[in-house]
Amino acid sequence: MMMYSDMTKDVLRAELSALKEAFESIKAEGLCLNMARGKPGKEQLDLHEPLLTAIRESADCMDGGVDVRNYGELMGLPSARAYFADLLGVAPENVFAGGSASLQLMFDLLMRAYIWGLKDSPRPWCKEKEIKWLCPAPGYDRHFLISEKLGMQMITVPMTENGPDMDIVEKYAADPAVKGIWCVPKYSNPDGIIYSDETVARFVHMKTAAPDFTVMWDNAYCVHEFSGGYVPFPSILAEAEKAGTADRFYEFASTSKITFSGAGISCMACSRENMDFQQKYLTVQIISFDKMNQLRHVRYLKDKAHTLTLMQKQAELLAPKFALVAETLSKELCEVKDLCFWRDPKGGYFVSFYSMPGTAKRVIALAQEAGVTLTGAGAAYPCHIDPDDSNIRIAPSYPAMDELRKAMQIFCLAVKIAAAEKLLGKK
Ligand code: PLP
Repeated sequence: MMMYSDMTKDVLRAELSALKEAFESIKAEGLCLNMARGKPGKEQLDLHEPLLTAIRESADCMDGGVDVRNYGELMGLPSARAYFADLLGVAPENVFAGGSASLQLMFDLLMRAYIWGLKDSPRPWCKEKEIKWLCPAPGYDRHFLISEKLGMQMITVPMTENGPDMDIVEKYAADPAVKGIWCVPKYSNPDGIIYSDETVARFVHMKTAAPDFTVMWDNAYCVHEFSGGYVPFPSILAEAEKAGTADRFYEFASTSKITFSGAGISCMACSRENMDFQQKYLTVQIISFDKMNQLRHVRYLKDKAHTLTLMQKQAELLAPKFALVAETLSKELCEVKDLCFWRDPKGGYFVSFYSMPGTAKRVIALAQEAGVTLTGAGAAYPCHIDPDDSNIRIAPSYPAMDELRKAMQIFCLAVKIAAAEKLLGKK
């Protein structure tokens, strides 16, 4: 087998026309498949049937003396706060249990920071000359969208095997205009990286010039391993409390990728002082979130131990899909393996793929032509600008196995076509 990079122009040209022929015939099959977002597959959703009947009648609506059908418990149903506290390793008093989306809690927190400031802000953020924000990239597109829409000056921080490059984070944190950072500490979206203990310690002990420097610790994938069993992870609030920096951290989680996406429950955990401060504004925003759904979830998920057993059932559905992606990539991309790179995550929802630099847009356009919609090129970078035009987020959870097999064939063909075209352009 010859690598594309070693082929002469003529051999590569012949290879490209063979690839295009194969591509045209697969295109003719008229596939229509959306792999743009990390959505659970139907079989995953079907696992949670008991959730639909966890509340059947009015007698089921009482929980610890609270009638969940009524207003009240602004900070969340006590049993829901206790559930998330168990999941994240914090005290229930440090947890606010909200509605169906953690993203909404993140957006709202930053909106409040802009309008009123945070507990230690010298002034509301909208009154600052500029707000700079650290964006470890590749990262979660919707985090960056919030920063973009709020007019933050986004600073890209490279990701390493151990999380964000902490030398760079610490350097920027010395600038008082830098107000915070996005973090997905476990199975980062899209790279699937788990922050190392050292990274966690550096976040906790870091010196920050802004008194209200805020770490948005989005633990969206805290119990989401699909291979190799549960990986314990330090509680950021517990670590920060020991270091006296707990006010710096807001942790988020939700059941979106545990039960029903967009119809689960979410939480924000922070120091008591931050919680008291936030409560003053939360009470303006809402009387109480949906406690019926909170109760349904607590009844069904019970506690962290039970949640982990349910996640194992999801793992049985997800593992073959991720294995299929890994197998197809390593089998089909032998001739370009010196030009591409991909990660092999053990949890989360994505495979982060790096095509030959300068070809990601082309790969995504080709896949689209053949009926496979992928996350847009550059989506994992601030302002959609991937400086290498290389990263592509593969989301294998939603399609059925046979569709995924076909989609991955198309994907690999697209990667090879784009690489061959690029190399021919250079030769
Ligand atoms: N955070 C991360 C890192 C995600 O990947 C996602 C969904 O893909 C979310 C948050 C969205 O969570 P929610 O549905 O709770 O808003």
